[in-house]
Amino acid sequence: MAPQELRYDGQVVVVTGAGGGLGKAYSLYFGERGASVVVNDLGGSFKGSGSDSRAADVVVEEIKSKGGKAVANYDSVADGEKIIDTAIKAFGRIDILINNAGILRDVSFKNMKDADWDLIMTVHVWGAYKCARAAWPHFRKQKYGRVINTASAAGLFGSFGQTNYSAAKLAQVGFTETLAKEGLKYNILANVIAPIAASRMTETVMPPDVLENLKPDWVIPLVGVLVHSSNTTETGGIFEVGGGHMAKLRWERAKGGLCRADSTFTPGSVLAKWKDVNDFSKPSYPTGVANFMELLEEAQKLPPNEP
Ligand code: NAD
Repeated sequence: MAPQELRYDGQVVVVTGAGGGLGKAYSLYFGERGASVVVNDLGGSFKGSGSDSRAADVVVEEIKSKGGKAVANYDSVADGEKIIDTAIKAFGRIDILINNAGILRDVSFKNMKDADWDLIMTVHVWGAYKCARAAWPHFRKQKYGRVINTASAAGLFGSFGQTNYSAAKLAQVGFTETLAKEGLKYNILANVIAPIAASRMTETVMPPDVLENLKPDWVIPLVGVLVHSSNTTETGGIFEVGGGHMAKLRWERAKGGLCRADSTFTPGSVLAKWKDVNDFSKPSYPTGVANFMELLEEAQKLPPNEP
């Protein structure tokens, strides 16, 4: 199949937070390419207050007006099982889950309130968990599932005023990495994206000419490829995507310092090896923890550390 003809006929996609921004763009894409779409949106403000069923309804109407199949769901992702239930009741299955819903409660750490922290964790971490948890038995049973979780540059690199959001967004990476490992045997593939796109979340922090080149539509093609049935191997990937740019990210390990692990191992030994601890001239790219058994044996062969 030519890539431009990627289709999802007969498949059921759940998109959370699909009333606007990226979620709306995903929904329209899948709706136009043969999938049945559950358009979930609570319809509140970008700070997480209020609710409005129109957000999801408008997108469902647009998909239907173009001949696609879609139903609305207005639950919070915190009640993810209700969203997955909508998919099962309306279409009898679920194949693809796009965990996309999100809010912001930006505030400097000094002024962070428990409520700001909690709400961000509830929507992003608990919400992604609840949706995936409810979809998981269906994926396992049918030996097929595709998951996209949504991280952020704020989570990967930190961002002023966003300790809550950063923590929740990096959590998506760990969550995805483990889903990928547990799902592989059942043909459940999970990847995580750090998108950048014009939406109500970014419209107040970026100038209009920049936003013009960051249409949500430019995030969709990569996700379309990752969740397509023709992707049978790409899982556990972290992708930065937006404005036509896409790149995979990974962990890099420095050369590292090894000391004999005995009573001669002191802070002085650490300082003596500090250069090696920080030496990225010949990096490795780990996908798991260092091989500690091997390192342990090597460490014991070393002479006692210099005082
Ligand atoms: P957006 O505000 O347009 O979309 C988020 C949607 O999620 C909204 O329609 C909102 O009503 C919905 N939502 C919020 N809380 C919900 C809940 N509890 N249950 C169900 N729906 C809920 O913003 P967007 O930019 O399209 O963001 C989409 C995702 O991408 C978010 O997870 C966001 O954190 C992430 N993200 C966006 C950018 C960017 O540049 N736009 C950058 C990094 C990460």
